[in-house]
Amino acid sequence: MNILTFDIEEWFHINDSTWIPVKKWPYLENRVIANTNIILSFLNRHNIKATFFVLGWIAEQYPELIKQIAKAGHDIGYHSYYHRIPEYQSKKEFETDLISGIGLLEKITDKKILYYRAPNFSLTNKWMLDCLIANGILVSSSIKNPIRHNNMDLPDKPFIFSRGEHKIIEFPLLTMYLILMKFAYSGSGYFRIMPYYLLKRLYKNRPYLLVYFHPNDFDPNVPTAQELGFVRNTLNTIGTATTMPKLEKLCSLYSFSSISQALNRIDLDNLQIIDY
Ligand SMILES: [Zn+2]
Repeated sequence: MNILTFDIEEWFHINDSTWIPVKKWPYLENRVIANTNIILSFLNRHNIKATFFVLGWIAEQYPELIKQIAKAGHDIGYHSYYHRIPEYQSKKEFETDLISGIGLLEKITDKKILYYRAPNFSLTNKWMLDCLIANGILVSSSIKNPIRHNNMDLPDKPFIFSRGEHKIIEFPLLTMYLILMKFAYSGSGYFRIMPYYLLKRLYKNRPYLLVYFHPNDFDPNVPTAQELGFVRNTLNTIGTATTMPKLEKLCSLYSFSSISQALNRIDLDNLQIIDY
């Protein structure tokens, strides 16, 4: 089961997105529309459905793009308003962000928003789960590393977080250790730098794999900005021309699906419950 997900944000939405002030964002080069269209035509060509986690700011700027994704039958989830990392927000700030972004996406798509991904997969504060549950989120996909997360070993497949009487399903990313580094190998920059033969082996016969990309992972001409610095600009642009050819080859071998499709196949009653 390879779950295919996309975080819909611009090339300059890095980490906590404070590198360039929000008021400057509308003047930076727009790449998200063209790159998301590359993703949508790829999915259409292969008849694949995926889950899209959308930034509130992107939905506000380009509502037609979000309508287009939803109309093609893909899941729409939320990915914060300005890509601020929840760890640096108060509970109040996090909840205000959540309510405004979910409200906006529901207005645009005319559907309930059930999926959420924290920017940078940073589900650290436990109260985040309470806010997500209180605001109608059914599935979070916000754990980057199930190995020793908040001093706990979490399952390396979908599981349930329990907070008192309330529950939320988590679809975690998988990581492996490579030369003492945690390596989130199933998407984005890691996918771009890895050769195809290695990816083919990693994706083979997986009972569960969460695959994640951003629109700029498919952009051979990602812009650079002085504010992002040399390292970040390099990481942003490396290997982007190789993403689509590698993904095209992988999806001829293995199947991919959205979170909603996976939920229909999973026996929810048998998922491991983690008291958190
Ligand atoms: Zn993101």
